[in-house]
Amino acid sequence: MTKPVITRDTVQKLDHEDPFGAFKNEFYLKKDHYYMDGNSLGLLSKRAEKALSTSLEDWKRHAIEGWTEASEPWFYMSEKIGEKTAHLIGAEPFEVINTGSITTNLHQLLATFYKPEGKRTKILADELNFPSDIYAIKSQIELHGLEPEDHLIRVASADGYTLKEEDIIREMDEDVALLLLPSVLYRSGQLLNIEKLTHAAHKKGIIAGFDLAHSIGATPHHLSEWGVDFAVWCTYKYLNSGPGGVGGLYVNQKHLGKKPGLAGWFSSNKEKQFDMSHDLSPSETAGAFQIGTPHILSSAPLLGSLELFQEAGIEAVREKSLKLTRLMMDLTHQELPGYGFKLANPLDDERRGGHVCFVHDEAASICKALKKEGVTPDFRAPNVIRLAPIAFYTSYEDVLDVMLRLKDIMENKKHKQYKNERGIIA
Ligand SMILES: *Cc1c(COP(=O)(O)O)cnc(C)c1O
Repeated sequence: MTKPVITRDTVQKLDHEDPFGAFKNEFYLKKDHYYMDGNSLGLLSKRAEKALSTSLEDWKRHAIEGWTEASEPWFYMSEKIGEKTAHLIGAEPFEVINTGSITTNLHQLLATFYKPEGKRTKILADELNFPSDIYAIKSQIELHGLEPEDHLIRVASADGYTLKEEDIIREMDEDVALLLLPSVLYRSGQLLNIEKLTHAAHKKGIIAGFDLAHSIGATPHHLSEWGVDFAVWCTYKYLNSGPGGVGGLYVNQKHLGKKPGLAGWFSSNKEKQFDMSHDLSPSETAGAFQIGTPHILSSAPLLGSLELFQEAGIEAVREKSLKLTRLMMDLTHQELPGYGFKLANPLDDERRGGHVCFVHDEAASICKALKKEGVTPDFRAPNVIRLAPIAFYTSYEDVLDVMLRLKDIMENKKHKQYKNERGIIA
């Protein structure tokens, strides 16, 4: 059976039936512009803006009293946001805290969970991982007086874009102390089977941790049900918290009560924090893995942004996201055959995150041309273009328009006027 041709009529029908239509008005979008980079920095929503100005107003009105008197009291805000994030990852509210960044949270949780002992000294990761995660792992290994060369295993990728769970599981030996993997690979958008990997790790006595940077706010998770030991994420990608927005972490309740590897006064049981004792009484919740004073103004936007996820439901977000990426792939086959694009993301719905990964020899210059034509793409050197049609603020017709602009660039060789090199930030 041949696939039906996708026309403007097809996508307009989809938009007409789309329950997300109303959410688009919640975001600040530029006119006649298509933002396909929400997997790097999500757009500002009116709710996030309002939550941030409320925090500023609280500061203006209450000064120091804002810690307890603000509309969302600052002293409890990290816990409150943790509770509101829990449904996105399938966790109990007390297992989640809004704090730090991916990299600092990784340092905290590696300092807590990575205890090389006897033969069990290695950390299992992968060769496609984001550099910051690998830097954190290497420095934690070195802090134990060990050599990353001998104690970090990076599972190889056969195609340079994706990983096979069996290859990862094969490396789970008695000498591995801890596993740290991304839920969704940041370049190809491959979604790993977290449940399968966690169960395999536990069978071998290995602690299983995941980096949810590219899945939180894009796909549902069931971390508690799957038994994941810990997880970290940022909030400025799919959760739209703004540049440098405060990240988050999850620690499975079976580990709560553990002393944090890196302690600070905000690790305290909140009742005891202001006793000012030199002996820490750690919180019984994931709050124990905070360190210092929370970054209120960089957390506040999340309070607004998370309301939208509460209203839409993460299952519905995922359903629309899958339809959008499927449409984008179908349009690639329909409109762009013969232009040298290869899809490097997994094609199956169960294996795909929230973006489509195009590989092209001229990726850098094509991205420059896309920007000129009103499309914000995301380039990853040397040859990857990531396009993320975000469920909240991308219509099906937007996807058609983006693909038609891309076709126009290729047909008229508009990218040839640009150098095929990356800029400072890409
Ligand atoms: C975005 C991202 C990071 C960034 O870490 P920060 O500490 O928030 O700057 C780290 N790891 C992965 C996998 C990412 O996608």
